[in-house]
Amino acid sequence: MSAYRQSQSDSARWDETAERLRANLSPASKVIREESLAGRTTLRVGGAARILCEPSSLDDLRKAVAYAHQQAIPLHVLGRGSNLLVPDAGVEGLVISLSHQQWQMFELRPEGKIWVGAGLRLKNLCGLAAKAGLVGFEFLEGIPGNVGGALRMNAGAMGGWMFDVVEEIQVMTRGGQVFTWPKAQLHVEYRHCLELDEAIALGALLKPASAAESEQIKRQIDTYRDKRQKSQPRDPSAGCIFKNPPGDSAGRLIDAAGLKGERRGDAEVSLVHANFIVNRGHATSADVIALVRHVRARVQEASGVTLEPEVLLYGQEWKDVL
Ligand SMILES: Cc1cc2nc3c(=O)[nH]c(=O)nc-3n(C[C@H](O)[C@H](O)[C@H](O)COP(=O)(O)OP(=O)(O)OC[C@H]3O[C@@H](n4cnc5c(N)ncnc54)[C@H](O)[C@@H]3O)c2cc1C
Repeated sequence: MSAYRQSQSDSARWDETAERLRANLSPASKVIREESLAGRTTLRVGGAARILCEPSSLDDLRKAVAYAHQQAIPLHVLGRGSNLLVPDAGVEGLVISLSHQQWQMFELRPEGKIWVGAGLRLKNLCGLAAKAGLVGFEFLEGIPGNVGGALRMNAGAMGGWMFDVVEEIQVMTRGGQVFTWPKAQLHVEYRHCLELDEAIALGALLKPASAAESEQIKRQIDTYRDKRQKSQPRDPSAGCIFKNPPGDSAGRLIDAAGLKGERRGDAEVSLVHANFIVNRGHATSADVIALVRHVRARVQEASGVTLEPEVLLYGQEWKDVL
């Protein structure tokens, strides 16, 4: 069979899969074929999801997850795409986005605790907590993800970490069961929550450090915002491309190896912060991967340190391309 005919039959198969899924869900849930993921990521590169689903309820999410499970379709969760490199060929599977309003709750609970949905933007969490006079969420200012992505990545900045403020998380397993897991039960480390490699975070119960006047909290947020604006590039990026090795900074090592401004196509090692790869216009995923490979090799030569990517290669594993 020719490649063209093969791709036509693949396409028909995905059409049929999407159609069946759509028929299973309520009309408020979206099921989109060949949805471009470049536009749903901050780096703005990469291809499409064969199917993207935005469930509008817990029941529809459960049905979508169960459908993927039964049909053995790879399932991926998408947050705000701010820590992802999407391959140029896109993602062979079903991508679930918790972007519907249903997943964006912010509810005050007793003792100053907050219940937040996985789809709530960190910017909104930070602003709403400040308004409520709750201290401890200011470090989230400027991290362009949502709660689900921040839980999976244990996002951190300015000395704070996402799991510093988590009491428990609510998840759906790939089998469609919903559980509440206390923090003590989770395996959380630098930029990783092991349990969320598989389970889908639905929301979390967060605990503030203390209470204070809103104005005072907002001043702290402004200080962090200024600090970030001075030290980070404005061009599209996926944040820090490499994890910091123990006791050192990836940006310092890349800079010391003389790599600022290095380019592959339109992918460039930022002149502002060496641990950011920015998209200077029309970068492809292949450009970014080639640059990651080059930077790693040069840093290894110069300092003996092997840098590990922090950004995730969506739907694939870095070890297969590096
Ligand atoms: C300019 C810029 C600055 C940044 N600064 C920081 C920083 O200071 N500190 C920091 O830690 N990061 C930073 N980042 C990286 C990124 O914003 C964080 O890692 C963020 O937490 C990712 O959230 P997201 O919603 O965009 O997740 P995505 O990038 O969409 O996804 C990341 C991972 O989380 C998984 N995921 C998403 N939602 C869920 C869910 N509901 N359940 C289970 N898994 C899920 C995805 O499958 C994927 O594996 C920065 C990025 C940019 C572009």
